[in-house]
Amino acid sequence: NYQKVLEENRKLYNQVQDLKGNIRVYCRVRPFLPGQPNSLSTVDHIDDGNITITTTSKHGKEGKKSFTFNKIFGPSVTQAEVFADTQPLIRSVLDGYNVCIFAYGQTGSGKTHTMTGPSELTKETLGVNYRALSDLFIISEQRQDVISYDISVQMVEIYNEQVRDLLTPDGVNKKYPFRNYSFLCSLISQKGFNVPDANLVPVTSTSDVLNLMDLGHKNRAVGATAMNERSSRSHSCLTVHVQGRNMTSCTILRGSLHLVDLAGSERADKSEALGDRLKEATHINKSLSALGDVISSLAQKNSHVPYRNSKLTQLLQDSLGGQAKTLMFVHISPELNAVGETLSTLKFAERVSTVELGSARANKEGSDVRELREQISSLKAALARKE
Ligand code: ADP
Ligand code: MG
Repeated sequence: NYQKVLEENRKLYNQVQDLKGNIRVYCRVRPFLPGQPNSLSTVDHIDDGNITITTTSKHGKEGKKSFTFNKIFGPSVTQAEVFADTQPLIRSVLDGYNVCIFAYGQTGSGKTHTMTGPSELTKETLGVNYRALSDLFIISEQRQDVISYDISVQMVEIYNEQVRDLLTPDGVNKKYPFRNYSFLCSLISQKGFNVPDANLVPVTSTSDVLNLMDLGHKNRAVGATAMNERSSRSHSCLTVHVQGRNMTSCTILRGSLHLVDLAGSERADKSEALGDRLKEATHINKSLSALGDVISSLAQKNSHVPYRNSKLTQLLQDSLGGQAKTLMFVHISPELNAVGETLSTLKFAERVSTVELGSARANKEGSDVRELREQISSLKAALARKE
């Protein structure tokens, strides 16, 4: 009986989540970094779901621009607080949902901080990826009398429109001591499904996950001059596949969670964008705008969704749209000299957002709605006259 109530609650919960819409946008503002001169922030203020940015025109005139999202995390918000608002979405994976979480923003705005954490990880600074997996383990254990879960992960990188497996011991073989990873080799056997050639590794504990993430990050750096450079020009995607078998009904449910750290969204510097840089920038632009197009056409419930325009959207096709749930974390840097990128990031986020326009736009929306209402009533009147 208790199980029944639990099941009912879960269903109800998912219905509520569905009502709230399948696309969510959260905005996170990075704090000024230690040692950085304490300069002014472009963020004027944050309240509820609104963020206001101070802008300066070419002629030095100051202005304000406001944006509305599902949630805004200010610079002092902790990793645990960010995760708390992500947790319900992540748990729905155990009920058979496909979930995609993206980190979007210019290089240095905090994408990797949100998803993975800083380079020196502590319990407090662990990012969404690790917390998500450890939460999935905890909940699946709580349900183990009813459902038996298998959890496995894949990690790939998309660089210049090519997908590369990050969970392969080969990459490690070349540069890193192999023995640290020998246990992984026994696990790396099964093949995955969303990228059929990429290894799918079963995981049973959070330490497995930490080791795999470490391997993935090290593999990502192979062949790059500097890790940060490479990571800002490629997308990395950690995919968690969950399969649950109901012990009594023997039904199988499958869910997946894509955790994506996107390439830096900054536009290439015109003077610098030559050769390889230009090629990278072109690929990044193409894939980020393809992602924007897909999400915004889903948000608008368009019948045609242009998945095939990039490797990134092809990779995630099954997990974007339909019953899938999408969360975009957009990141902004607070520095005055980043204001151009900050505004273009927020405009991108606004485009993919389904949030009803906030008070800053209420007038515009109000008049649109009024106009439509008037049209409807005049059409109704015309119909009535005909009858
Ligand atoms: P990106 O991945 O977008 O290029 P990073 O996540 O590497 O950016 O962040 C750049 C720097 O800022 C890193 O040193 C990171 O630890 C730090 N940082 C980012 N966000 C935060 C935050 N919310 N709190 C503290 N430090 C942060
Ligand atoms: Mg990064």
